[in-house]
Amino acid sequence: MRNKIVAGNWKMNTNFKESKTLVKQLRRAVKKMPLDDDTRVLIAPPFVNLPSAVKRTRKSSIEVAAQNMHQAINGAFTGEVSAGMLKSIGVKTVILGHSERRTIFEETDALLAEKVDAAIANGLEIIFCFGELLEDRKSGNHFSVVESQLKSGLFHLESIAWNQIVLAYEPVWAIGTGETASPEQAQEMHAFIRKLLQDTYTTVVADNTSILYGGSVKPANAKEIFSKKDVDGGLIGGAALNAEDFKAIIAAI
Ligand code: PEP
Repeated sequence: MRNKIVAGNWKMNTNFKESKTLVKQLRRAVKKMPLDDDTRVLIAPPFVNLPSAVKRTRKSSIEVAAQNMHQAINGAFTGEVSAGMLKSIGVKTVILGHSERRTIFEETDALLAEKVDAAIANGLEIIFCFGELLEDRKSGNHFSVVESQLKSGLFHLESIAWNQIVLAYEPVWAIGTGETASPEQAQEMHAFIRKLLQDTYTTVVADNTSILYGGSVKPANAKEIFSKKDVDGGLIGGAALNAEDFKAIIAAI
């Protein structure tokens, strides 16, 4: 069966010292929490803070993810980080396709498919992000946009590779805006995605794939969103930078 997951995307926040402090606070908080066996907590600090975060969470149930990676094995790609490099420091999960990567850094569906293949080949788990723009929702195209992003980025994979995929539906209009999709809107989209997995792959793939919601999840709204049948947790931005808030969101799962 699928896991329940709360993952924190720290984006380009926290210097070395701040990251150390936040990891310490979270480690303490999570230690005191009775997490179910099927519940996972991940944090995704910036690249430079990954080795320290891996080291400091070794004896904790917190897992460490990267926020991005390059698709090539190695080579002349100044400033980039490969899947193998992440693996070599003990990182087992990578976020791909975040809307900030898609919009600000112009990552296309085709590029993301290459990154997905590189991560899978290196045995990394992927938190694959996708979601519609406000204009897509207003024009009623949100289902077709999401379907197209999933098809282009992931549907070339064999069923077996889905053991390494976590989906994160993040409507772009709800990221960092304070505006959240209603629990009903989230459930409607998650059910659509699960049906898509069932039709494209199998009921087993559909049932076993965790689908997270992301977009202004806070302690005040987490419980209601997570209570929906097809919402298996959240990808958290802003609220993941505050230990008390992140703890409350974990408690909500
Ligand atoms: C995100 O960046 O993935 C995100 C969901 O951000 P926020 O929670 O701040 O909206």
